[in-house]
Amino acid sequence: MTAQILDGNALGQKLRAGFKQKADELAAQGVRPGLAVILVGEDPASQVYVRNKVNGCAQAGFYSEKHTYAPDVDPKIVFDKIAELNADPKIHGILVQLPLPKHFDAEAVLDAISSEKDVDGFRAENIGALVQGQRCFIPCTPYGAMKFFEEAGISLKGKDAVVVGRSNIVGKPMAMLLMHAGATVTICHSQTKDLKGHCLRADVLVAAIGRPKFITGDMVKPGAVVIDVGINRLPDGKLCGDVDFDSAKEVASFITPVPGGAGPMTITMLLANTLESAERVAAAKK
Ligand code: NAP
Repeated sequence: MTAQILDGNALGQKLRAGFKQKADELAAQGVRPGLAVILVGEDPASQVYVRNKVNGCAQAGFYSEKHTYAPDVDPKIVFDKIAELNADPKIHGILVQLPLPKHFDAEAVLDAISSEKDVDGFRAENIGALVQGQRCFIPCTPYGAMKFFEEAGISLKGKDAVVVGRSNIVGKPMAMLLMHAGATVTICHSQTKDLKGHCLRADVLVAAIGRPKFITGDMVKPGAVVIDVGINRLPDGKLCGDVDFDSAKEVASFITPVPGGAGPMTITMLLANTLESAERVAAAKK
């Protein structure tokens, strides 16, 4: 079996075309969706992510602002900027690119973003709403993964899903979304005994580990759907996922590539959340 590729670039483009139309409609009502991105430091990967987010805004007809700071910036300056952006009516979403330098309290920074503009969905109250199934901004990477299932017509009801990784930004919200969609979910992490045994029982396997090519084809159940969230840079400069794509694609029914899978969908869903935030503002004005 060779798996069908779940193409994040193609799905992203399709969704973003719809966003452009909605953004123009909102702009006609005086509410052009606006995203502010804050980047602290000079991490090359973060610079690429931020550039892609700003470009994504331009493509979708959104307003965007980028605020960059030196790695040793006084955190107060960043907190003051967040306060300013919280009050700025042009801005519907605020994103602080992670990771932040060590002298920052990342949790406090995320908490400083107003919940109405928390389009990354990382604030504790947002995650609480997600757990309860209430309206919230769904964290973008897991949200993008769910769009793959929707697009490919993959039902999650009654499926055994395994999420490898338990981070607040990917693993935990991913598990919650899969559970809400009817899957029976196992979350694995660095202390899991018999990781391979768990993976081999997964109808749906999500890898969010941060280790290149860690999940190999012999860990994949034949016919499973494999979502690879990992982005790792190899010594030769090439990007790869947490899944060994070449061996896994021979066993899976569907698989996301890296690059071109979860990455572009993450940015797409950031735009979706920013649009939703702007729609809420427009609705409140009526
Ligand atoms: P993270 O916070 O470092 O979490 C990694 C998780 O993997 C942890 O829960 C860790 O377990 C688990 N893990 C580490 N080694 C393991 C092992 N040997 N066996 C089983 N589990 C293991 O990472 P993250 O922020 O969730 O990101 C995960 C990956 O996704 C990274 O490659 C990152 O670059 C990528 N990412 C991509 C996007 C995108 O846009 N596509 C967005 C965000 C992240 P413990 O909790 O026990 O330590």
